[in-house]
Amino acid sequence: MARKLLFEHINVPGINTFDVYRKQGGYRAVEKALKSLSPDDVVEEVKKSGLRGRGGAGFPTGMKWSFLAKPEGVPRYLVCNADESEPGTFKDRYLMTNIPHLLIEGMIVSSYALGANTSYIYVRGEMMPQIRILEKAIAEAKAAGFLGKNILGSGFDLELYVQPGGGAYICGEETALLESLEGKRGNPRIKPPFPAVSGLYGCPTVVNNVESIAAVVPIVNEGGDEYAKIGIGRSTGTKLISASGNINKPGVYEIELGVSVEEFIYSEEYCGGIANGKRLKAVVAGGSSVPILPANLILKTTNGENRLMTYESLSDGGFATGTMLGSGGFVVLDEDACIVRNTWNFSRFYHHESCGQCSPCREGTGWMEKVLHRLEYGHGTMSDIDLLVNVAKQIEGNTICPLGDAAAWPVASAIRHFRDEFEWHVTHPQEALKGNYGLAHYADPLPQIAQTV
Ligand code: SF4
Repeated sequence: MARKLLFEHINVPGINTFDVYRKQGGYRAVEKALKSLSPDDVVEEVKKSGLRGRGGAGFPTGMKWSFLAKPEGVPRYLVCNADESEPGTFKDRYLMTNIPHLLIEGMIVSSYALGANTSYIYVRGEMMPQIRILEKAIAEAKAAGFLGKNILGSGFDLELYVQPGGGAYICGEETALLESLEGKRGNPRIKPPFPAVSGLYGCPTVVNNVESIAAVVPIVNEGGDEYAKIGIGRSTGTKLISASGNINKPGVYEIELGVSVEEFIYSEEYCGGIANGKRLKAVVAGGSSVPILPANLILKTTNGENRLMTYESLSDGGFATGTMLGSGGFVVLDEDACIVRNTWNFSRFYHHESCGQCSPCREGTGWMEKVLHRLEYGHGTMSDIDLLVNVAKQIEGNTICPLGDAAAWPVASAIRHFRDEFEWHVTHPQEALKGNYGLAHYADPLPQIAQTV
């Protein structure tokens, strides 16, 4: 059984309340940090842990913290990015719903480390239940003396606020989030300057994902070195994965980084195999933005090695044969799934969510959606497939923020790995419409583990 650092107590009745969380050892990290560690010590522990941002980019958290500018007399801010809205990703919502004090505790320790006396949790606007849960948790923590003035007599002050998001996916991009938090339209900013130098209200700011901040709690409790013992190589610690699609046990799982993809999909501890005895066709491993991989490439690298749930293994082979761990939104598609329809669905999302500032993204996402729609509905031509590749290429790397790349990669990768299925939609439009996809891309024979669990 894999070790749990974030979800160790998730099934304890009442763990969403301060009293039960405290009885399970909650807020020990705050006591340890404020009573026996300096802010720099906490930063050092996070650096030693090897923790990488859990929102998608995977940038080392300790290094990001050390970039924070510290000009005299200027406030610093910590902002938690809880604007989770990537299709297929729902781990942060699950954490905030079930164990909100873990995030509050992480915010206190992280704010202390960064020298922030005012911090924000920016929560996706549609998540009203989670906003209320967090507000209640903050009130409980404040009543117990863990927030406010002179916390635990340490001289450290912290006010923590929950800010409902602006209702747009783009507000999850850190600079768009800061614009929105300042009360403006959530348009991404051109970088540099980076938020560590000029962030919220022009002050030095760190923006971290919910899971990254929650992970600071076990890192401070156990020590950075202990945390780094879990995982493989530069992929240390545990990771929350939201698993969905055609699997027997959809849900949010905490894995030790390094478990094989095969085990994650087929073992009873995690997804429990493909639903209804079907075969695996493809996986979107890290949320809708990352390249889709067919069954053979998600289970094994081109060297024949088992593909592992790590940053490095999932990206092995680059975009030609690999993908990314991303946000951990793991979407499994079985043999009946239509890749064209799936790609069109993602494209609709990105077109709708483009903020419109840059032409390649604003126009390109619209073109891709339109062309995919006609392919899916039997009006496509062979040249449409090349047109899609071309449009995706024009978007990639030519936009202000990563949404452009996020829109291009699913389309480019779907055509790279499933071009014959796109062509089949052109040559067999009526059959494709009836849901007969006609082509075999699934893992066959079934992986060994499927027969042993
Ligand atoms: Fe807006 Fe898209 Fe440009 Fe990002 S890439 S700034 S979402 S138009």
